Amino acid sequence: MIQTTTAMNLDTLAARLEGRLVLPDSVEYEERRKIWNGMIDRRPAAFAVVKSTADVVAVVKYVRDEGLPVSVCGGGHNVAGNSLIDDGIVIDLREFRSVEVDAQRRVVRAQGGATLLDINMAVTPHDLGVPIGVVSDTGVAGLTLGGGLGWMMRKYGTTSDNLIGAEVVTAQGEVLQINEDQHGDLFWALRGGGNSPVAVTRFDYRAYDYGPELDLVFVIHPIEQAHEALRAFREFAKTAPDEISMIAVLGPVPPAPEIDEQYHHEDCLIFVGVWTGEPGGGDRALAPLKAAPTAIADLSGRVPRAEVEGFFDPDYPKGHRYYWKSRYIDGLPDDAIDFFIEQAKGRPSVESTVDIWLLGGALGRMDRTATAYAHRDAAFGIGIEANWREPAEDEANIAWGRGVFAGTAAYSRDGGLYINFPGFGEEQDDLLRKALGQNYDRLKEVVAKYDPEGIFTANAHIRVTE
Ligand SMILES: Cc1cc2nc3c(=O)[nH]c(=O)nc-3n(C[C@H](O)[C@H](O)[C@H](O)COP(=O)(O)OP(=O)(O)OC[C@H]3O[C@@H](n4cnc5c(N)ncnc54)[C@H](O)[C@@H]3O)c2cc1C
Repeated sequence: MIQTTTAMNLDTLAARLEGRLVLPDSVEYEERRKIWNGMIDRRPAAFAVVKSTADVVAVVKYVRDEGLPVSVCGGGHNVAGNSLIDDGIVIDLREFRSVEVDAQRRVVRAQGGATLLDINMAVTPHDLGVPIGVVSDTGVAGLTLGGGLGWMMRKYGTTSDNLIGAEVVTAQGEVLQINEDQHGDLFWALRGGGNSPVAVTRFDYRAYDYGPELDLVFVIHPIEQAHEALRAFREFAKTAPDEISMIAVLGPVPPAPEIDEQYHHEDCLIFVGVWTGEPGGGDRALAPLKAAPTAIADLSGRVPRAEVEGFFDPDYPKGHRYYWKSRYIDGLPDDAIDFFIEQAKGRPSVESTVDIWLLGGALGRMDRTATAYAHRDAAFGIGIEANWREPAEDEANIAWGRGVFAGTAAYSRDGGLYINFPGFGEEQDDLLRKALGQNYDRLKEVVAKYDPEGIFTANAHIRVTE
């Protein structure tokens, strides 16, 4: 019945849009519903491919009048697939993605569907950088709304810490310009709250001097020496300068031509990071991590920024199958190190990894209630990435991800986790509680104020409104 009503009335919506509606049974519809995670198989009633803020308003008013479910698609990279909703209208921002740079004021304004590549391309000619994530086709929207960890975070904070304003469309179809002083409660919630009670049509960021070259850290140790190397990493973390942001990855040796072929795809530990301080400083700062055990390869060096920004891109092709979880931990005791190494060695897919993000620095110094992003005092963030290709291997890989996630609880004071690596969101409200910690109740109030009917949070798997 919904389908019939929808089909009849969708002409009305199409007529109101500067953009266009993409309906089922078309090639484009099938393309649009294939988002990054190949595990996601949802069938919206239509994609509203918007071109303007007015288009977003038109869709919101339409779904309210028709009583239809709605979702918002930024970059479509959410692992749980929350950007798509079955039988509802997707506000599809993937063609609403231009980026403006005010180099003088160091402000970058990105439309709601911009990707990290869109931002990087716009700021590169000005030798500026915005603290964003590490893979180019991630959407800046979901990244910011959940927090945003990346190569500049220890120096300048999360992506959301560098949001200075936004334009949003509310669940009532109103357009608001928000910042710390205007609708400050909503602005607080958008910075790391995960569940957005509005559609964001523009994000304004602070930018910093960055590039044109950077020190890339890329050291590979054999898995047999991972324990010793991670102990060195633990020591390094205690006094690490803010200029270094890095991840220790337990996974396979990449099949790069610079690396001896005998090691390709073998289990290993990789230190990968970016130094944003003076040229060559990364090498000096990281010396203890390189020296600890013997490395298989040290490919660190000064490289063009584009190499840093695209470094991980080949590892995450669209359409493969993914299940990602996370946990914040307070330290890296020896038994945790052993646990992570054993779990990595036992992964069913060679492409999967256990990642240990070094946190702290500027990100850690900010007040825990200043924005919705909560877990600022954690020393490390564990990213559990199950990455595989074949549907027949779904069960084994998801079980592996869940097993590692369960095991990490022993090393976490409060079970805190990062909302942007949510698995399938299966813990529902508990996921948001663990992600938001002390900020959970405040987020709930803001969501109830701006989206009392749960229009924008209906598909978040985490229902903040009852
Ligand atoms: C390959 C890969 C690499 C990643 N790397 C990093 C990283 O380096 N650092 C990091 O912190 N995270 C990283 N992530 C996690 C990433 O931050 C989340 O997956 C994030 O949700 C992606 O945002 P998106 O806009 O692409 O997602 P989408 O799936 O489009 O959206 C995510 C959520 O936000 C909502 N939403 C999207 N756009 C808007 C909008 N304009 N207004 C309101 N709501 C909106 C959607 O409805 C959905 O609920 C990575 C993810 C992937 C897949």
